[in-house]
Amino acid sequence: MDTTGKVSMNARAPKGTADMLPDVARAWEHLQRTAQTLFARYGYEPIYTPIFEHTEVFTRGIGEATDIVSKEMYTFEDKGGRSITLRPEGTASVVRAALERNLVANGQSRKLYYAGPMFRYERPQKGRTRQFWQIGVEALGMAEPSADAEVIMLLMCFFEELGIPRANMRLLINSMGDEACRPAYREKIAGFIREHDAELCEECGRRAETNPLRAFDCKNPGCCKVMAEAPLLRDELCDKCAAHYAAVKELLDGLGVGYEEDPSLVRGLDYYTRTVFEVQVDAGLGSQNAIGGGGRYDRLMEEYGGPATPGLGFALGFERTLLAMEAAGVTVLGPALAEVYVARVDDSLAGAAFAIAQELRDGGIAAELDHQGRSLKSQFKQADRLGARAVVVVGPDELATGAVTLRDMSTKDETRVSLDTIAERIKTLLG
Ligand code: AMP
Repeated sequence: MDTTGKVSMNARAPKGTADMLPDVARAWEHLQRTAQTLFARYGYEPIYTPIFEHTEVFTRGIGEATDIVSKEMYTFEDKGGRSITLRPEGTASVVRAALERNLVANGQSRKLYYAGPMFRYERPQKGRTRQFWQIGVEALGMAEPSADAEVIMLLMCFFEELGIPRANMRLLINSMGDEACRPAYREKIAGFIREHDAELCEECGRRAETNPLRAFDCKNPGCCKVMAEAPLLRDELCDKCAAHYAAVKELLDGLGVGYEEDPSLVRGLDYYTRTVFEVQVDAGLGSQNAIGGGGRYDRLMEEYGGPATPGLGFALGFERTLLAMEAAGVTVLGPALAEVYVARVDDSLAGAAFAIAQELRDGGIAAELDHQGRSLKSQFKQADRLGARAVVVVGPDELATGAVTLRDMSTKDETRVSLDTIAERIKTLLG
């Protein structure tokens, strides 16, 4: 209890979360609008799935032994005794929805995109938060390598559209193989880890039994050195996977997209098969330099008990993308908070000013007025602060003749304008 007798509360946002204040929220909306326009050009439709799911959607899809499932999920029991998890990523939910709602039955295909918050209990640092915002796409029902190349292009084009120059980005690609070639490779890596157990960190040692491929992701310098000598899946792909991977690269080459093959790129989720990719930027991001990534997940729908349905997609993180935009000198400017300010000479004209502001807004003009009883001088100051291009001054004498004064804030010109034509005159002034 504080001295007023009220129970004090912890008025801070939880660790690892951030309020999206207006400037950042505007940037988020800008990303969503850009996605809407660009993704539509590639045939994508929006989808919104619940922010929480039955825990099993993620344990089955992403995999029990992954970092996300084993350490990072926000899981709780709801009042009905069900195990519920806040979504740590979007793909599992979209595939669950597509199966449940028959979106890709009988060999149909569907392109879907989403935008929204994701939740992972990670150690917060620059570019890494516990609630973060992603935009992602999922292309379901498409097995051909051209679908892989298209999804990769879309991700690159999205970042470019936002003003991140191609030269700032590094596109990494790899193939994870499939059920024909990966299991043997997995065993090989597990064996390799056991052989080098003494040189690896404890966690990598454990990975031999749980998720050996993740040892490629370990940031420990000793482990990196050892894993650099490990056999590569690239050299052990089955014929089909090798042909698929070669075809994806050929298509990217044909479009002149520069990429680096990174045979150690494994990404942290179990559901990936064949193509995986990641876009990294150096500027401004420190160790959290992956702004987006994704891959193919041809077994995921089957994992949920559905028919074999190929799929692939990507997700990009808003916070890191924004940092990359800032590093490239891109600023997202919001619209002026008011195009026009309706000022009144004294309070007796408050009702008239209120009606004029409403009329302007009805006419599609961003109009603001005072609600705090400010003096005329501070109304003008406020108009300046909001970036208003014009001020409508409501005065008693003019109003008596059905007119107001219109001040152009850049030229300082003032003209008397009839109330009947005020909206039109302002539109002309605003251009
Ligand atoms: P993932 O779902 O792990 O493939 O991540 C896709 C993208 O989401 C990454 O490239 C990041 O931009 C972003 N991301 C993932 N985890 C976080 C996090 N904890 N905080 C902020 N962004 C994240």
